Amino acid sequence: MDLIFAIFYILIALSAGIFLSLVLHSYLPFLLSLIFTLFYGYSFFRKTFRRISAVRKALPESWRRLLTERAYFYLKLPPEEKRKFENNLKIFLTDFPVRGRRGFQPSREARILAAAGVVTLLQGHPEWEPPTPDGILIYSGERFDDDYNPGRGNITGMAPYRGPMILSEKRILEDFVIPPPPFNVVYHETAHFFDWEDGRAEGFPLNRMPPGLEEEWMEVFEDELERVSKGESILRDYAGTGPGELFAVATEVFFTTPFSMKKHHPRLYHLLRIFYNLDPAAIFSGKPQKRV
Ligand SMILES: [Zn+2]
Repeated sequence: MDLIFAIFYILIALSAGIFLSLVLHSYLPFLLSLIFTLFYGYSFFRKTFRRISAVRKALPESWRRLLTERAYFYLKLPPEEKRKFENNLKIFLTDFPVRGRRGFQPSREARILAAAGVVTLLQGHPEWEPPTPDGILIYSGERFDDDYNPGRGNITGMAPYRGPMILSEKRILEDFVIPPPPFNVVYHETAHFFDWEDGRAEGFPLNRMPPGLEEEWMEVFEDELERVSKGESILRDYAGTGPGELFAVATEVFFTTPFSMKKHHPRLYHLLRIFYNLDPAAIFSGKPQKRV
């Protein structure tokens, strides 16, 4: 849609320039419209060119080895999907800052795996932009507190309404192992960022919600919250804090241990499969994904 508008503006500007040049018998309006078109076109297409150039660069072999050894979702993707994942990763690391807090230099592994965590959730939707315009800020060590003091408190990741995703380096490295544990701080916080896009993190990521899913979503989330509160869920207790945390925790389980979710929570699995347009259980078992 943005491209259609851009072309529309360019055509209007050029047409107006040509028209005025003919009426006024002067080249000046046409030249001005041409200059406008060049500047506007350059600024609009700059991002596209930057991304094309990022994708054309080969993925460093050390990155591929790291993904193969640590990112189970990537490891299980078929070759064509792996290429898509790698391109998204290159684009993310080109267009979004992934840096350490206040001069801290995070390890190359932590930076790549944090970015890989975000692009995992984008794999089923080539049209989706990452939900983290301010990128990722990595803290040293394992934990920080509510005032963002590293080494204190018990927070390992945070998704503030505005600003970068905040992650502790140690937790990123611990969560990306094979076989994957049923939790992942990057998946969790990325889900919160989807949820924040409509201004409210209430477990209902409205801006990315496929049409027709709303009613079922509300119903299933209500049931699942009740199951957590009764101790009948495979989701950890923290999911019972509210629908926002349920969505984030369910996303972690969906992408790390999809067989358990599919078995114990088939309706929740079905919802997330539609939302993310992915079937991790099929991917992990090496079967082709069926369309929902
Ligand atoms: Zn959370």
